[in-house]
Amino acid sequence: PNFLNKAFTFENFIEGKSNQLAKAAALQVSENIGKAYNPLLIYGSSGLGKTHMMHAMGNAVLKKNPSANIIYLNSEKFVQDMVRALQQNSFTHFKEYYRDVDVLLIDDIQFFAGKERSQEEFFHTFNTLLEKKHQIVLTCDKYPKEIIGIEDRLKSRFSWGLPVSIEPPDMETRAAILMKKADLVHVKLPHEVAFLIAKKIPSNVRDLEGALRRVIANAQFTGREITVEFTKEALHDLLSLQDKLININNIQKAVAEYFKIRVADLSSQGRQQDITRPRQIAMSLARELTSLSLIEIGNAFGGRDHTTIINACKRVKELKNTNVKIAEDYSNLLRTLTH
Ligand code: ADP
Ligand code: MG
Repeated sequence: PNFLNKAFTFENFIEGKSNQLAKAAALQVSENIGKAYNPLLIYGSSGLGKTHMMHAMGNAVLKKNPSANIIYLNSEKFVQDMVRALQQNSFTHFKEYYRDVDVLLIDDIQFFAGKERSQEEFFHTFNTLLEKKHQIVLTCDKYPKEIIGIEDRLKSRFSWGLPVSIEPPDMETRAAILMKKADLVHVKLPHEVAFLIAKKIPSNVRDLEGALRRVIANAQFTGREITVEFTKEALHDLLSLQDKLININNIQKAVAEYFKIRVADLSSQGRQQDITRPRQIAMSLARELTSLSLIEIGNAFGGRDHTTIINACKRVKELKNTNVKIAEDYSNLLRTLTH
């Protein structure tokens, strides 16, 4: 068995700015196994599609070459298998099993932390496969250099080929993922409903799917149509929790703290660059994370006009695409506010 899940394909993987690099690299590796980037390392926090991407690669390779020898496994399973092999005196067999594959997809390598013997064994497997130019794909929930408890020589090797990150998807991508997932189960999801859920669950695709599943199940049980009103009812506990945590005060507080300015500066008329930029970012976050109208947001920022809010959102959107620092600030703040 190769342990591949056929449901996870590239076709089912929605591309957005947050994952397009990782997807492009994954596709390229699937088409040229052992030749493009080796190892390919995909890293990013939980629920962003790393496992999906790995299965998609395995499935794509098999489609092209049905006899390819591919194994997908979690690092935890590698550790368990190794322990069992040691107990049962079948270690030679264990070693050969993994060193013989064409493509080794090994998920969540952060589990190797603190397990020295497994690291040692994996290191040998890894080197053997690379020497033979067989493909290795790894995923990790953070940049490997940041993992404590993994040997340095291993960490540096993990990044030899190509490390690519997956970031949390933006609102449009989140909505597109929801539409696609609904489509897969033949449910027609209105656009406004997709955007409502996408807006309320900003960080994690797994949570998005969970919310969608609830809405669909609820509609099926009650026989009601999926509308915005219906969705608000079906998810009301989740939404009220979100509203409590994410409101304009908390956004302003978080932004002020992050940029080391005063909350009052955000509503002031001051025009220095070091407060106008944070102010625009706070406005944009308020627009993205709350259900407040432009007028209400304007009021919360010292009675500004709604066109000021629109312009701020536009400006921040541009800056996120052109200025790495600002993109990073924005996603840090999103993470702080939504976790
Ligand atoms: P990770 O391994 O990074 O924790 P998963 O691959 O398990 O995340 O993804 C969690 C869920 O989200 C899966 O059901 C997966 O299909 C879905 N998912 C994540 N990103 C996407 C995407 N870009 N398009 C479609 N589905 C996605
Ligand atoms: Mg995973």
